Amino acid sequence: MNRFDRNERLFGREGQEKLRRTHIAVPGCGGLGEYVAQQLALLGVGELTLIDDEDLSRSNLNRYPLARHEDPIPGTAKVDIVARAVSAIDPDIKINKVRKGLRSIAAFKALHRANLIIGCFDNDGARLVLTEFALAYRKDYFDLASDISAEGSLRYGGRILFTGAEYGCPICFGEIDLAQARIDLESDASRRDRERIYGINKSALDEGGPSVVSINGVVASLAVTEVMVYVTGLRIPKRLIFYRGNQGIVTVSKDEPTPRCYFCEVIKRAGANANVERYLLEDETVSPEIA
Ligand SMILES: [Zn+2]
Repeated sequence: MNRFDRNERLFGREGQEKLRRTHIAVPGCGGLGEYVAQQLALLGVGELTLIDDEDLSRSNLNRYPLARHEDPIPGTAKVDIVARAVSAIDPDIKINKVRKGLRSIAAFKALHRANLIIGCFDNDGARLVLTEFALAYRKDYFDLASDISAEGSLRYGGRILFTGAEYGCPICFGEIDLAQARIDLESDASRRDRERIYGINKSALDEGGPSVVSINGVVASLAVTEVMVYVTGLRIPKRLIFYRGNQGIVTVSKDEPTPRCYFCEVIKRAGANANVERYLLEDETVSPEIA
């Protein structure tokens, strides 16, 4: 019996073949990306591109099911862990590993080759770059976030936002904090200047907010389900889904995108004219090979 028999009972052989012909990029192989990549492998996606320049750290071990106890820390790249798991599931899946930051030529080249992007970084700077890239080059883009906030009353959960051919992107839905994104993307020199003028933001120094395996798992599973229904043609994906773990519910947002969004109107379909390449870091411009 073919390994995808139980999948095909849901979305048919044709749906399975569509998944096999799909190349999905997963920028960000942390707590969300590893779940996403593992599920895409089990679904039978034909080609995966994994983008992340980080190594596994001890503080990842509460939420990284694909890591093994004996993986050296430091010294184990997240893309290697995820690629190992994907090829153990299905050695026929083509895997491209990019052990570089998002703002590298290798990452951009790999994103160009993918049909669909599932953004799994946990910072708004990366979300802004991926949003502009997806809009400019007409890539279907799912943007994932898991979030635990103790400001006011305790909230935990996450959201999945789909950017496709229709009007609407994470920015006009208010899901990217542009001021924070600019801070995330600034150069070391501008950061030093800003801190000299405005002082150091103590809360930004504390990078390790709460992050929990089960919340990531829910957000990743909701996202992969949306990708699955979209690629196989079961239904069109929802534009914005919230998981509110503190209430124990999942809701589909009824919000409409804010009209006159600069990104949806000017960046969208602008291709190279959008100059998303301005985000590339200078020291990356000399090594244009894909890992
Ligand atoms: Zn927009």
